[in-house]
Amino acid sequence: MTEKCGVVGISLDGRAAARPLYYALYALQHRGQESAGIVTHDGFQQHSHVEMGLVGDAFGLDDLETLNGSAGIGHVRYPTAGSVDTSCAQPFSVSFKSGSLGLSHNGNLVNADEIRDELAGKGHAFTSDGDTEVIAHDLARNLLEEDLIRAVKRTMQRIHGSYALTITHDDTVLGVRDPQGNRPLCIGKLEDGYVLASESAAIDTLDGELVRDVRPGELVVLHDDGQGFDSYQLIETESTAHCFFEHVYFARPDSVIDGSLVYEVRRELGRKLWEESGVETDVVMPVPDSGRAFASGYAEAAGETTADGEPRDEDDEGVEFAEGLMKNRYVGRTFIMPTQDERERAVRLKLNPIRSTVEGKTVTLIDDSIVRGTTSTQLVQLLKDSGAEEVHMRIGAPPIVAPCYMGIDMATREELIAADKSVEEIRDEIAADSLAYLSTDAVADALESDRADLCLGCVTGEYPYDIDGEETDREVSRPEIDQSPVHADD
Ligand code: 5GP
Ligand code: MG
Repeated sequence: MTEKCGVVGISLDGRAAARPLYYALYALQHRGQESAGIVTHDGFQQHSHVEMGLVGDAFGLDDLETLNGSAGIGHVRYPTAGSVDTSCAQPFSVSFKSGSLGLSHNGNLVNADEIRDELAGKGHAFTSDGDTEVIAHDLARNLLEEDLIRAVKRTMQRIHGSYALTITHDDTVLGVRDPQGNRPLCIGKLEDGYVLASESAAIDTLDGELVRDVRPGELVVLHDDGQGFDSYQLIETESTAHCFFEHVYFARPDSVIDGSLVYEVRRELGRKLWEESGVETDVVMPVPDSGRAFASGYAEAAGETTADGEPRDEDDEGVEFAEGLMKNRYVGRTFIMPTQDERERAVRLKLNPIRSTVEGKTVTLIDDSIVRGTTSTQLVQLLKDSGAEEVHMRIGAPPIVAPCYMGIDMATREELIAADKSVEEIRDEIAADSLAYLSTDAVADALESDRADLCLGCVTGEYPYDIDGEETDREVSRPEIDQSPVHADD
């Protein structure tokens, strides 16, 4: 049940939270297009509206008007290839003895099945096979015996995997980030309240100020009056496991994640790509839009040094940057197409070359990543059909050799072109004149991070979590889920 998603939580001083939540979800739409939802609480009662589709389609004016209360959370969910499951749309909401809970989750638990089995054995009835409902039930159970802070801590000690959560407990809004900080979550200040969001771009949309990232293992509790928040460092860890792919592909370039502006990270990755594997061609062009920031950094670095690393002579014009491919902005992400045949057609629908920048030229094409290889294969062919003499492919991330279990869900191992092929075999398959990827060290450098503080599972095959059948890159183990009752004394 791997999902990539966007989450938000807002607590205001009196004003209804529904509209700001709705705008924030718009700002996070790129993180999920399958379903959208909002849960609010007005101090007496919880309100919920969750629907399939884009944010703009899921909510009407009347829906927003029924979502009363100055506290609430929202969610956008990404489609998982093949399965469209309404029971997994979020926020998840539930009412129980000690109040109501709403829960928005970005990420993926590794041990959800163990906890579900245990709770089901204690009489909890589950309506979905999703891991979010497992978190909600676990928290609800702990809340019967403990205060809010201890209950959250207890749940965090039991769940293993990636999670950025926004939660409503009645009209209190909480944010939680997993102890490795795998998925992003940040805090923003509004004129009359506070916001928690997957990405800072959502805070910008609300005219707010980014305060800081939620820390790995931290619980943030927004005050009901919108005047502040409390922080509880519930779990301490020595190292983090930030997802580098957020910076490479998933997040908006205008968001700041874990202290780095995504756009600048992508440009820096592009610069390093030139330094590691630059090739002198007539033009450099991005695959729109995912390759754009990379290509701009690459072309900038190419203007300063030659491919051999020597400073350029004054009369050496270097490499020309060109927008060689026109994007039809009305076609969604190719990834959404469920079959390979549809995915191939979608690339042609989406991109068309601008002949003058391609014909008779040697071209370097830059993208952020190769997943299945569909996009690159199609684009190399397209550029050659349009008269390109050579097409060199440069990729701003390392080869994706293994699946993501932590919430990105890009493809299964069988679908990943790099899972069992060398770079030369991939070059041959996509029919490029040359192909180079970026090193993992360059990724860590660009993120100004230690390799040991990043999740590089999809490019190394070694994960920072204890996943069945996979290797780990550090000492981690899942908590033992036993059948004994929960105690209130720790
Ligand atoms: P491929 O065609 O090789 O399967 O996918 C590569 C293209 O998909 C690249 O242009 C990249 O920007 C984009 N991409 C990479 N990862 C993801 C992802 O997780 N979801 C979606 N929708 N696209 C992705
Ligand atoms: Mg792309």
